[in-house]
Amino acid sequence: MSARILDGKAIAEQVREQIARDAAALIAQGTQPCLAVILVGNDPASSVYVRNKVAGCEKAGFRSLKFEYAADAEPQVVLDKIAELNADASVHGILVQLPLPPQFDEDAVLEAIDPDKDVDGFHAVNVGRLLQGREGFYPCTPWGVIKMLEVGGVEIQGKDAVVIGRSNIVGKPMAVMLLARGATVTVCHSKTKDLAGHVRRADIVIAAVGRPNFVTGDMLKPGAVVIDVGINRLPSGKLCGDVEFASAAEVASLITPVPGGVGPMTITMLLGNTLLSAQRAAKA
Ligand code: NDP
Repeated sequence: MSARILDGKAIAEQVREQIARDAAALIAQGTQPCLAVILVGNDPASSVYVRNKVAGCEKAGFRSLKFEYAADAEPQVVLDKIAELNADASVHGILVQLPLPPQFDEDAVLEAIDPDKDVDGFHAVNVGRLLQGREGFYPCTPWGVIKMLEVGGVEIQGKDAVVIGRSNIVGKPMAVMLLARGATVTVCHSKTKDLAGHVRRADIVIAAVGRPNFVTGDMLKPGAVVIDVGINRLPSGKLCGDVEFASAAEVASLITPVPGGVGPMTITMLLGNTLLSAQRAAKA
């Protein structure tokens, strides 16, 4: 193996320590960062995510509020709660755990959140701000990837970057963030012809596909930086990414593992966005 491993767990820990220090300073001035999380239904994965988000808040010294609703909840009840949280000045971040049950219009729920408390960065206003390079909230997973690249000392400007995946939560914002930092960005997806050809030209490869071992070492340019966003559960119960780690690590110069790569960064950046919101509120 020749690649250096970019340890997301260690980077996340480092960033969270800084967040906790900044939160303590803000609390000393009278503002405690507060995240409100809304969970509808009993999807086990969603429950775990929410639990981890709440635990992350507590560890960083934040206040957290959790609102749980049954799977058959009336959408209006959730919309009313969002309106109440929007109006509550002591709440700095509002997060609705996705996916929502079928009776919900997800876009309508996300749009109901005050964009200035939308710490997930999914509101159309924040997507627009990201696209225009304005201050807002950036989606946590791609924002975490940028942080990892920074800590890893990866130069982005002038580099050829390939993002595989074009979802609203990962692929598209990832591409925009890389573009903003001066990369030449190609976005590949299920309709892309000669995906391997695109990947082979890339200095930076971001895989956000949701398919185990999709990117293999023979597809990579020697020395490429490979960031694996994918989280896939194999029939054995084991977690794996979108990149075939062993073969890719032979060719890449820097690579993230799964688990322990991008995963730990997502909640970290959510905490970072909540802190940022509280800092903005304290200044206002
Ligand atoms: P989506 O399913 O929303 O998007 C997957 C993307 O991959 C789509 O754009 C799709 O193309 C593309 N794709 C699928 N199959 C192929 C193929 N055969 N060839 C080329 N492109 C393909 O997933 P997400 O973006 O939400 O997540 C991607 C991965 O990242 C998942 O494994 C998810 O679990 C993980 N994830 C990890 C997070 C973390 O914290 N680390 C957070 C969020 C997600 P098309 O648009 O054409 O259908």
